[in-house]
Amino acid sequence: MRSEELFKEAKKYLPGGVNSPVRAYQPYPFFATEAEGSHIQDADGNSYLDYCLAYGPLVLGHANPVVLGAVLNQMSRGTAYGVPTEKEIELAREVVDRVPCAEMVRFVSTGTEATLSAIRLSRAWSGRKKIIKFEGAYHGAHDYTLVKSGSGAVGLPDSPGVPEDTTKNTVLVPFNDEEAMVEIFNEMGDEIAAIILEPVMGNVGCIEPQEGYLRFLRKLTQENDSALIFDEVITGFRLSRGGAQEYYGVKPDLVTMGKILGGGFPMGAFAGKKELMEMIAPSGDVYQAGTFNGNPISVTAGLTTLELLDDTFYDDLNSSGNQMRRGIQDILDEKSLNYQVAGLASMFQIYFTEREVWNYADAKTADTVKFSRYFHQLLKEGVFIPPSQFECCFLSTAHSSEDINTTLEAIENSIAMAEKI
Ligand SMILES: *Cc1c(COP(=O)(O)O)cnc(C)c1O
Repeated sequence: MRSEELFKEAKKYLPGGVNSPVRAYQPYPFFATEAEGSHIQDADGNSYLDYCLAYGPLVLGHANPVVLGAVLNQMSRGTAYGVPTEKEIELAREVVDRVPCAEMVRFVSTGTEATLSAIRLSRAWSGRKKIIKFEGAYHGAHDYTLVKSGSGAVGLPDSPGVPEDTTKNTVLVPFNDEEAMVEIFNEMGDEIAAIILEPVMGNVGCIEPQEGYLRFLRKLTQENDSALIFDEVITGFRLSRGGAQEYYGVKPDLVTMGKILGGGFPMGAFAGKKELMEMIAPSGDVYQAGTFNGNPISVTAGLTTLELLDDTFYDDLNSSGNQMRRGIQDILDEKSLNYQVAGLASMFQIYFTEREVWNYADAKTADTVKFSRYFHQLLKEGVFIPPSQFECCFLSTAHSSEDINTTLEAIENSIAMAEKI
């Protein structure tokens, strides 16, 4: 069946025809049949250069043969045990070796569980209830953080079904605004259990922290005995070997991870100082559990992936990012368009706005109608990016320099289409 018919059929059985909202776009999303390296294929026989990459996990591209080999080997020995394995120690050791704040780790199955658990832990540790999150930040789909959340939901109301009793303890602040943060701490600093943030916001496009902002948050939380939680579900193992905290040289108390950590399989984790992590059951009494925690398939895929991510790997990956962003900037300059080329390392996005983008309010000034024309023309040209202005595009080491040049031609045509020039 072709994608158009499949979508019609899917809508009969799956709400909106998909299993995660951002995947549904008009008139119908393409349905994938297979993928390899930098390419993904659809049910109509089209092939696309993929910059969505499953929204971040596939830093080696699709179906990496080394990871596949390790996973197939593990699968033949069993897929879930419900008892510990040696590989869990190996992966934990690898995380602790790489990530500056990580002294101990708990593996879970998704990024959502990781942030939920890290927030619970920060509340238990501090004996306080309130958490601060940033407007437009996404920390998964659980109730604590589903307030002005990013991830394709920008502009939508907060979700019905989330009790006010829960969200009254979630305080919203604009990103990169020191004054607003100081004001909140002056008012209720002794009630704040934690600040949770994406050190680079990856669910409203791509927004970097301003120079010194992360250090400011570190200092403020220390002074107020609040925990600083970096949600590195995207940036972990993407910005550098040790993620954003290594890249920016700022050490949080807790970190949440996911996406790349699972090497293409479902996986999440949270980690931090021993003092905090030992509060987790069974060594402490802060409850956290999961049937698939430390699942041997995900652990094998994650461990095999991380073993391939050395410093040379990041040099190669980031130079692809530079090639892409420079190329886009040249196209915009040539067309005398003053849009924002966002991103760093292997993350990129174009904001269709002339305003510099430092927070959610800035991002929302982008012209989503132009973005939609850009997105659809890219598809016609054989390039797939996330279907929302408020998502981030990713590169993998499977993307060659020629792939990027082909993509830049498609981007040039698609920007022209977006502008109707
Ligand atoms: C994707 C994401 C999550 C949620 O991870 P899931 O595995 O989808 O539950 C949490 N935080 C950030 C920053 C993310 O990008």
